[in-house]
Amino acid sequence: MTEKSEFDSPLLRTALTQLDRVAERLQLDRDVHERLRHPRRALVVSIPIKMDDGKTEIFTGYRVHHNTVLGPTKGGLRYAPDVSLGEVTALAMLMSWKCALMGLPYGGAKGGVRCQPRRLSRQELENLTRRYTAEIILLIGPDLDIPAPDMGTDEQTMAWIMDTYSMTQGRTVPGVVTGKPLIVGGSAGRREATGRGIVYALYQAARRLGQDLRGKRVVVQGFGNVGAVAARLLWREGCVVAGVGDVRGAIWNPNGLDVRQLEAHVAESGSVSGFADAEPVPAADLLLQPCDILIPAAVGGQLREDNADRVKATIVVEGANGPTTPEADAIFRDRGVTVVPDILANAGGVVVSYFEWVQGLQYYFWRESEITSRLQEVMTRAFNRVWGAASKEGTDLRTAALMEGIRRVAEGYRIRGLYP
Ligand code: NAD
Repeated sequence: MTEKSEFDSPLLRTALTQLDRVAERLQLDRDVHERLRHPRRALVVSIPIKMDDGKTEIFTGYRVHHNTVLGPTKGGLRYAPDVSLGEVTALAMLMSWKCALMGLPYGGAKGGVRCQPRRLSRQELENLTRRYTAEIILLIGPDLDIPAPDMGTDEQTMAWIMDTYSMTQGRTVPGVVTGKPLIVGGSAGRREATGRGIVYALYQAARRLGQDLRGKRVVVQGFGNVGAVAARLLWREGCVVAGVGDVRGAIWNPNGLDVRQLEAHVAESGSVSGFADAEPVPAADLLLQPCDILIPAAVGGQLREDNADRVKATIVVEGANGPTTPEADAIFRDRGVTVVPDILANAGGVVVSYFEWVQGLQYYFWRESEITSRLQEVMTRAFNRVWGAASKEGTDLRTAALMEGIRRVAEGYRIRGLYP
């Protein structure tokens, strides 16, 4: 893939830089390396929607399968204004490494629709979701590609996709998506899974660094499905959640926010801004506030060359996908900041999605305590593998995690060979 390709995007350039570096370290076969740089298939669709005012508007949507070498593809669906083919492709690639790293029988995929979800009515969102599903229907299915929620989408979105797909099949097919509401085959613990996985990963990192999480000051960027759950669980563990931010603004209280009250405020007002017991801070400064642990859990490219040297945290746990650029990574490495990388830190979501898929295929559902303890086991095992590999190879955690994920996918390619 070249700079001039239609796939070009900052996130894809980062993902390819990471892949190329790791391929060199692993001394990957040149042909396999080249195949890993390209998505297996990418679909671009136009989505005409009847808006509430009676006019028709056309949105652009994408679904990308990065590879299918280890199984059907899996990955979220994002509704956001800056979604592009390149970004979706990069996210699909990251899903490949993440699923392989976690030992899941999936290839990576991602989908997206370029839109402002908060400006659409519920009816418009439903129309958009159903028509998008109809447009990509050839690419999805329980043993083909299984979407899940990501930024701007939620359980309701998954229920609409499941219903639309099921209607075309003439039967109910719960396994076509994960992250569904419980009543239609969702899994206990899925909603909290990514945030909970972050806490398990952070717990392991702190243990290895000889630190106690209690009393540590935490900043979280993004207060959605991932950020809000991570903040709540860490607050309950005795951390001081001092700063949080969302797309509308950021707030700060060095003595700690009451996260339960903050969640109630967000439920009412739609944003963390205006929370009574805190000061507003400029959004860009949130990441630079004095804290021990920083959790970027919003969008990509937030920690860059121009701000990484001013980050005060000594542990960064990537809730978001691709929040750190390679330049910022190098700065963190030099400064001794421990970065728990996205493909490990936020993998709790896809792990419990896998549990949901397995439960759905078997029509046999597990208790939440069972799911939580299995998630903890998978996260801890993966963390220990990555930590061990990083120590052995003398690399940072991201390189070690990517090496493990990429090595497995490459091995799958090698052993399956090239068709025809
Ligand atoms: P979400 O839509 O529930 O929440 C996103 C949050 O980020 C909101 O609070 C929003 O206001 C905020 N935000 C958006 N743009 C921002 C900006 N420019 N600056 C500051 N804040 C901004 O999304 P989510 O599901 O919590 O996903 C967040 C991140 O985590 C994404 O990068 C996503 O890819 C990643 N992720 C999500 C899951 C999952 O299970 N939902 C799993 C793995 C990774």
